[in-house]
Amino acid sequence: MKFTSYWLDTAPATPDRSRTEISREVDVAVVGAGLTGTSAALHLARKGARVAVLEKETVGWGASGRNGGMATPGLSLGLRDAIARYGFPTARDLYNSYYDAIDSIEKLVADEGIDCDFARNGKLNLAAKPAHYEGMKRTYEVLTERMGVDTTLVPPSELGEEIGSPRYHGGILDPLGAGLHVGKFVKGLGESAVRAGAEIHEKAGVESVHRLGGTRHELVTSRGRIRADKVLVATSGYTTRPFRWQQVRIAPVGSFIIVTEPLGKEVCDQLLPNRRMCSDSKNLLYYFRITPDHRLLFGGRARFAMAGPRSDQKSGRILREAMVSVFPQLANAGVDYCWGGLVDMSMDRLVHAGEQDGLFYSVGYSGHGVQMATYMGKQMADYMDGVLEANPWRDIPFKRIPGHFGPPWFLPFAGGYYKFQDVIK
Ligand SMILES: Cc1cc2nc3c(=O)[nH]c(=O)nc-3n(C[C@H](O)[C@H](O)[C@H](O)COP(=O)(O)OP(=O)(O)OC[C@H]3O[C@@H](n4cnc5c(N)ncnc54)[C@H](O)[C@@H]3O)c2cc1C
Repeated sequence: MKFTSYWLDTAPATPDRSRTEISREVDVAVVGAGLTGTSAALHLARKGARVAVLEKETVGWGASGRNGGMATPGLSLGLRDAIARYGFPTARDLYNSYYDAIDSIEKLVADEGIDCDFARNGKLNLAAKPAHYEGMKRTYEVLTERMGVDTTLVPPSELGEEIGSPRYHGGILDPLGAGLHVGKFVKGLGESAVRAGAEIHEKAGVESVHRLGGTRHELVTSRGRIRADKVLVATSGYTTRPFRWQQVRIAPVGSFIIVTEPLGKEVCDQLLPNRRMCSDSKNLLYYFRITPDHRLLFGGRARFAMAGPRSDQKSGRILREAMVSVFPQLANAGVDYCWGGLVDMSMDRLVHAGEQDGLFYSVGYSGHGVQMATYMGKQMADYMDGVLEANPWRDIPFKRIPGHFGPPWFLPFAGGYYKFQDVIK
């Protein structure tokens, strides 16, 4: 078994950018080369800005190269909760921004010719308990009657046409959800940004930041200093000390994934005949899909610990058991890959993007970042150019997580709380 991301392992190699020459002076410095950073760099460079992306590791090394590869509609917070908290018009606009975000990936893939298996196979949300299906019926009513969104309720009696599992109690299907090979996508975006004129520097972690006035900063990296008129913090669940204001507002929650050996088309046709992107309705949810080469990718928040080699191994064992509980027919299937990554959860499970102390940022995708990080890279390029309405999240206050001072000591307690909620609700 490989303890590395299947997506990064199966993406074509890109040039080593760990010895590049870093410009001393740019218009915009982007910190982090995930989907937010590479998309922002591409869109800023297209506007004619001199851009340098500074990445501590390599392009896509963070959550962007480690996720489920699902670009799906829906707020992490949940539509009905969002309406209750922010009112219908705001919740509707935020919800709809996820459709815009998926469209923006489709457009980028076409415009830049990125070969990444993008396909609109649909998103299927599965009810883990009968009561959860009743909640889905209420969401379906809101989507249909108030939002005009075209989804389909899948009652328990028809679920067999969607999934070869006895475990679930109905579902709701959104046909606009998409899947993609996210390793090929994030690396492809990086290459597009370079072609558009952006610099990308790998192994160039930002160690400290000094404000020179307004939005102008000097960044000290492990490979030298750089000055920029504007800086975009695109570090999400991997945010550390130099960006402390953002760091203490994000809980980096470990999420883990296993990928089976190739199962062949026939077995995959039994598991997920329509190749939906699936997740279930628990707080500590499972998510799964078929990969382009007919493997099952199965993920979940297996343990509330920071991801690391030992943590990944334990999570792999837990996830294999979970996978077999959903798909008993995979009891003897081999697992080829297992890895973990950090999901950037905000307190309110909403994205937070704006400017603080002269630094621009877009973080906190709360597990829904494949589409939204890509989209926000594009939107932040406009926002930093003075188009305030380009940022749909600009009016939402970004609250500090109480008791969060740096290392996230509170994660096991939060994990216990959510496990308990899944038992009682
Ligand atoms: C296991 C897992 C499964 C997921 N599944 C899905 C899914 O199926 N669908 C979905 O929509 N979302 C999913 N997500 C969430 C999604 O992947 C993220 O929200 C998204 O990739 C965030 O992108 P980003 O570019 O903002 O951050 P990241 O991709 O995390 O990139 C941040 C980068 O910043 C770099 N960095 C940090 N500090 C510094 C510094 N000081 N100097 C320089 N560089 C620095 C890091 O090295 C990292 O490469 C998942 C996340 C995980 C972990």
